[in-house]
Order: sequence, then C-alpha cells, then structure tokens
Amino acid sequence: MCLMGMSPTHRTTIVIIGAGYAGTMAANRIASHPMVTTLTRVRLISASAHLVERIRLHEALRTEEDPVRSLPELLNPTIDLVIGRATSIDRKRGVVHLSDGDPIPFDQVVLATGSTSRAPAGALPISGIADLQPLRDELVGSSHTRIRVVGGGLTGIETAAELAEQRFDVEIVDSGTVGSHLGARARKQASRQLRRLGCTVTDNHMCQPEPGMLTIWTAGFAPVTVPCDPPVSTSSDGRIVVNRFLRSPTDPRITAIGDCAAPPAPHLRPSCASALSLGAVAADILISDVLKTPPPSNTGVGYVMRCVSLGRNCGLVEHVSPDDVPNGPVLTGRTARRVKDWVMDRTTQWLIEEAQRSGSYRIVRGPAQ
Ligand SMILES: Cc1cc2nc3c(=O)[nH]c(=O)nc-3n(C[C@H](O)[C@H](O)[C@H](O)COP(=O)(O)OP(=O)(O)OC[C@H]3O[C@@H](n4cnc5c(N)ncnc54)[C@H](O)[C@@H]3O)c2cc1C
Repeated sequence: MCLMGMSPTHRTTIVIIGAGYAGTMAANRIASHPMVTTLTRVRLISASAHLVERIRLHEALRTEEDPVRSLPELLNPTIDLVIGRATSIDRKRGVVHLSDGDPIPFDQVVLATGSTSRAPAGALPISGIADLQPLRDELVGSSHTRIRVVGGGLTGIETAAELAEQRFDVEIVDSGTVGSHLGARARKQASRQLRRLGCTVTDNHMCQPEPGMLTIWTAGFAPVTVPCDPPVSTSSDGRIVVNRFLRSPTDPRITAIGDCAAPPAPHLRPSCASALSLGAVAADILISDVLKTPPPSNTGVGYVMRCVSLGRNCGLVEHVSPDDVPNGPVLTGRTARRVKDWVMDRTTQWLIEEAQRSGSYRIVRGPAQ
C-alpha cells in the first residue's frame, strides 16, 4: 500500500470527508487508538460544526430545536476538524480541494458524505437540516392543509405517523406497498397504527406534487459524493464502488463508507445502523495499515433489528437476521417506542464512547466477507 517506502517518521494523514454517523465513527475509532495516535494525523472535513442527527429530523418538525450535536463535543480531541466543503479529490497530487481554503494533502482519504433527497420541484424534502425550516413554515398554522408523504419506506412511515399524530390530514403514498421493506406482520402493524392515527395509506400509486397540497418527498435518496480527478468507479446510482475492504478498486487510497458507498453486500440498506458499522470497519482496516498488521478477516456488516417510530407513543421493532431478513418477533406499542428512543440516544453515545476508547463500539456483523 502507499505506506510502503515512507520514512519511519512519516505520519500517515487520513482525511475523512463528512462528519455524519459514518465519518465521525471512523475518525474517532482511528484517533483514539493508543498505538496509532503518534503514527497518524486524522483530519475531518465537515460542512458544518455540527453532526446532524438525521434519524431525529422528522421529530424536529414540531419543535424549534434542531437535532444537532456540536462536533467538538463528539470528537476525540486529537482530530483536526476542518470546517469546509470538499469540492474535489485530486488523485494525482494527493490533495482534497475545498470550496474555501488551502488544499488538504492526504495519504488516505475516506468519503463519508452521505445522501440527499431526490425531491422533484413542487415537493419538500426531509433529508438534511436545511429542509426543516421550509417544512416548519408550511406546517405553521396550516392544520387544515392536506399533506401527502410520498415514499412508504421507513423514513416516510415515521414522517407520516409524526404528522398524523399532530392531527394533520396526512396521506402516505407509495408506488408499490407502504412498508414493503418490513416483514408481513410488521407491515400490517405499521399500516394499522398509521390508520389509527388518521393517516390514509395508499399503495400502488405513482404521484407527483399537486398544487394546494403539501408534498413531502421521502421516496429514494441520492448519494452525495466528491468528484475524484481522475474519476473512480461508481455504481449506476452514483455511489462509490468499493471492495470488501471498503476501498475503491480504482485507487486503494480511497475508502468510502455510509450512504455514499456501494460495497459488495447487496443486503446493506442506507441507514444509520450501516453507517456506524461501516465507519468502524473502515477504521479497523486503516488502523491495520498503519500498524502493518493483517486487516480484519471478516469485514461484513449487518443488522439485528429494524426500529421504527409510529408517533411519540408507539413504535415497531422487528428482529432481522444479519442479512436483514425478518426472522423473529415483532414488538409494538410503547415498549417498542422506548426501544427506539434508546437506540437513538445510544447512537450519539456510541460516537462519544468511541472518541474515548477505540473499539468500544461493537460492529454489528453481517454475512462474512
Ligand atoms: C428523516 C430521516 C429519518 C431517518 N431515520 C432513520 C432511522 O430511524 N434509522 C436508520 O438507521 N436510519 C435512518 N435514516 C437514514 C440515516 O439517517 C442515514 O442513512 C445516515 O445518516 C447515513 O449516514 P452517513 O454518515 O453515511 O451520512 P450523513 O449522516 O448524511 O452524513 C454525511 C455528512 O457529510 C457532510 N458532507 C457531504 N458532502 C460534503 C462535502 N463535500 N464536504 C464536507 N462535508 C460534506 C454532510 O453535510 C453530512 O454532515 C433516516 C434518514 C432521514 C432523512
């Protein structure tokens, strides 16, 4: 790897782009490793000084408080946090260009730039922090507005339930089946709870934004990446193709994790759960590089459960196999909601603990890779 032939005093510069769940996990896990600290410099490029808790965005529709956490409070203090937007990766010169500021040299670069909405004109997305205010503005004083949530995935279901519980007139629409990612029992439970909250559930309907109706778009997210020069391989939907070591086959100095990556693991879904585990695996691989030890033999990540909020007093927890197939009991009601709250709280706790002790987050293993 590129570390070969470097002087013994060379500190490997690992540049991580994007401080979401994946990037923050990777940065903390590397930086807090006691044997790596003196051998590496970890630089984390973040578009803002906060980590956005995307998994809480729908709940922030009815508060004025943004679901963000200050990055310095989450990061290992040795991490060099660079606030800025990466605009390109110059592979020949080995630097990351920023929209503002000097280029940042790297030995290894990790793309953890997440995803964004594919909302068409006339619809409002719920994907990032900037989406909250336009949605709040539409919702204020408009209790009679009809709201159509397009996309019956887990984000759509959570958003529809949250708004229906606030007594908005909500319809959730999917071109296939609402909750198709859930197992049959869980899907039925989710539909029942949505209807109980007064939400209309419409399957098999392709729709576009209509005047006089607030359309919230949750149907499909597009990866966000930083262009590489020369380019590296991407999947048909624009994610960075990576091998089982989460490295680009075009350039092994480039790692990609989280929503922006396409690892050879078809069971992986864009999620906070995948992002945390992929961030941890990437860190372990980069640590083994620096220490010149063999990389982890199993780099596969997976799942234990799907956890969905259905309003503030009800949730749904569905057990799944490591490759994400429903395989056990479905928990509903207040207990499931409490589990969901616990998981959301743990998410940032896991990052904080990782900042203190490398390896404290236990990777959720999937099928071996
Ligand atoms: C409303 C909603 C609810 C959700 N609920 C759940 C849930 O309950 N459970 C679950 O598992 N998943 C959930 N998800 C999905 C989950 O949030 C994402 O899959 C997860 O955030 C992906 O993590 P990530 O680290 O890959 O990317 P992100 O969390 O998106 O982080 C990427 C970061 O990179 C930054 N960035 C991007 N480009 C650049 C650049 N050029 N330079 C510098 N910084 C850059 C972005 O600003 C962002 O901070 C939900 C998503 C939404 C929108």
